[in-house]
Amino acid sequence: MAELARALDDLTCASCGTTDCLWIYPVRGVVECRECGTKAVVILDALDQ
Ligand SMILES: [Zn+2]
Repeated sequence: MAELARALDDLTCASCGTTDCLWIYPVRGVVECRECGTKAVVILDALDQ
C-alpha cells in the first residue's frame, strides 16, 4: 500500500511557526513538518470529517 501524504493547508507548526509546512501521513497517523522535521501522532477520526 502506497503511503499518501497530504498537505495540511493553513496550519502552523507549533515548533517552528511555519505555515503550510505540515503534511499528514494517513497510514501512520503522523503529521510531519517539512521545515523542522517535527512529527506528531494525530487522531485520524478527527480529520475524517
Ligand atoms: Zn516545524
